[in-house]
Amino acid sequence: MILTVLGCSGTYPRPGGACNGFLIQEGETNLVIDFGNGCMSNLLKQVEYTNLAGIVITHMHIDHFGDLYPLFYALRFFPGEPWGLQVLMPGGGLEEMGCILGADSREYVPRVFSETPIVKGNIYQVGDMKIIFHPTRHPVEGYSVRIEGKNWIVAYSSDTKPCPGLAEAADSADLFICEATFPVSYTKEASFGHMTSAQAAKAATDAGAKSLLLTHIWPTFDPRDILSEVNETYEGEAILAYEGLQLKLGGR
Ligand SMILES: [Zn+2]
Ligand SMILES: [Zn+2]
Repeated sequence: MILTVLGCSGTYPRPGGACNGFLIQEGETNLVIDFGNGCMSNLLKQVEYTNLAGIVITHMHIDHFGDLYPLFYALRFFPGEPWGLQVLMPGGGLEEMGCILGADSREYVPRVFSETPIVKGNIYQVGDMKIIFHPTRHPVEGYSVRIEGKNWIVAYSSDTKPCPGLAEAADSADLFICEATFPVSYTKEASFGHMTSAQAAKAATDAGAKSLLLTHIWPTFDPRDILSEVNETYEGEAILAYEGLQLKLGGR
């Protein structure tokens, strides 16, 4: 499996960067996890947009779904009409997305994308990958994601403050992609729905995650400070996400 970081900024992009998104390629299957603003440009460096098996949108915040709009228009006007791309998302997400489109475009949304509402406890299958969701604690409905391949496990926190679902999602994961939006000095500010570096380190430790990929750091902060704070307590390997970073798991 190859994981490519499409975007990793929290809330708004760094100069030249993009908001959250990840491409997972397992054999012939291409799965996107979150698709924030700026991700599509980076996706197209790796794979054709007509060659996606599915997209997961963990919650309806623009830094996690914003590039569904350019993808929608690309598919809407694609001559071969490869419509009906599966999008696993909170129920009603497509309707919410379509609200800002004109009426002529809006009617195409449910034809271009096929919404599969996320239900806690369900197991979803995309290619050979098994996907399981755990509710987050964030101002809107959202889910952490556990993805199990043939011989690898990846988890992704999405946006959340510390919650029990993180330990379940990331239990013994080979790689835990975890938000660390704030440094420790901003613990109070983080409490409305995000994590600090120390909280991300604790979540990874509690879950027994073997390695940690830090994402969703606000561009206001220096990622190196976040990483050094994580390394104070987390004993596994922790690295910073950046656009274009590729990691191989499970032998491929
Ligand atoms: Zn976010
Ligand atoms: Zn959010």
